[in-house]
Amino acid sequence: THLQGIAMSQPKARQTLQARVAWGDHVVTVGGDAPVRVQSMTNTDTVDAIGTAIQIKELALAGSELVRITVNTPEAAAAVPHVREQLDRMGINVPLIGDFHYNGHRLLTEFPDCAQALSKYRINPGNVGKGDKHDKQFGQMIEAAMRYNKAVRIGVNWGSLDQELLAKLMDENALRAKPFEAKQVMYEALITSAIDSAKLAQSMGMSANQILLSCKVSGVQDLIAVYRELAQRCNYPLHLGLTEAGMGTKGTVASATALSILLQEGIGDTIRVSLTPQPGEARTQEVVIASEILQALGLRTFVPSVTACPGCGRTTSTTFQEMAKSIDDFLRAQMPVWRTQYPGVENLKVAVMGCIVNGPGESKHADIGISLPGSGEAPAAPVFIDGEKAMTLRGDNIAQEFHQIVETYIEK
Ligand code: SF4
Repeated sequence: THLQGIAMSQPKARQTLQARVAWGDHVVTVGGDAPVRVQSMTNTDTVDAIGTAIQIKELALAGSELVRITVNTPEAAAAVPHVREQLDRMGINVPLIGDFHYNGHRLLTEFPDCAQALSKYRINPGNVGKGDKHDKQFGQMIEAAMRYNKAVRIGVNWGSLDQELLAKLMDENALRAKPFEAKQVMYEALITSAIDSAKLAQSMGMSANQILLSCKVSGVQDLIAVYRELAQRCNYPLHLGLTEAGMGTKGTVASATALSILLQEGIGDTIRVSLTPQPGEARTQEVVIASEILQALGLRTFVPSVTACPGCGRTTSTTFQEMAKSIDDFLRAQMPVWRTQYPGVENLKVAVMGCIVNGPGESKHADIGISLPGSGEAPAAPVFIDGEKAMTLRGDNIAQEFHQIVETYIEK
């Protein structure tokens, strides 16, 4: 016999603490036994409370479980409670994260309604103040988090790394008999900044359970190196993302590559895909991609999957591509409603195939599948439901009829 037990592949699990990010009764746990969470960030001016609330709603409906907003000025801080109010009125309970840099200590102290309306604060230890002021200002933000019972993310970024710490480590490195590469020192500075800040927060009374960490860089191999080490050195939940990933295909591929490798190793408890939207591209695209990464790895299921062959010289017309796209668009568009109406609908598998070579086989593996006629084949499209041939479609309305069959199947 040639039968051997081939090892199954699945992402590893990493033991972490669990943070609670909550708005009212709606609690999003991060880390521990929680699923890897999808989050995103608005690109509106937070002062525009209505515009910001509308974009948050779009991101939340697309599947973003946490949404971060910029809180950069007193005007933005004053607008945050209004953003929250608008969302509550719309029935959107997604927790909001305030992104603070430079003046977060002042804004959180001077705008208590803002501090309360947010569910988590992002603190960048690289720009929270220099020298003696650093610990004091950092402490003011931690105090606000403790007073209002909010989680914090200590988010280090190599674009705004603590320069004093980096210089100190560089000096130390220069004294070594065999100095490390400059990049290795930079990795060390990122990780040290995050972990030392978390320890400082804990020494001020913050619970370890309310702390998340991130160390973002924009190179795939750099991100992998930094997060592998960060995961070794602490058990805080980690926010994972490739910062400034870029535009379009490049940004998507770079994010998917870096995040997938780390997620497979169990590293990453909440992810954000930082894409620069192309003109006219919806901000929600980053949520779709983040969800797709988790779904492709088998970590989560968000939307029914549509299996479609790439098409080749055997496909006779564009009907096949159009149908695959229209079914995919239709299923995604319905999900905000279906998720509550039809529990488990996200596990549905649909196949749209271009010819008889793999069409019937792949369609039988799906819950519902169609094999369109390829060139030289009879103009008939067999439909398979639960692995059995259920009917054959013919004529010009195959796409619409299949659409209806899928909808009826879901309703049943
Ligand atoms: Fe080509 Fe048929 Fe394979 Fe699709 S299933 S890629 S049409 S051979």
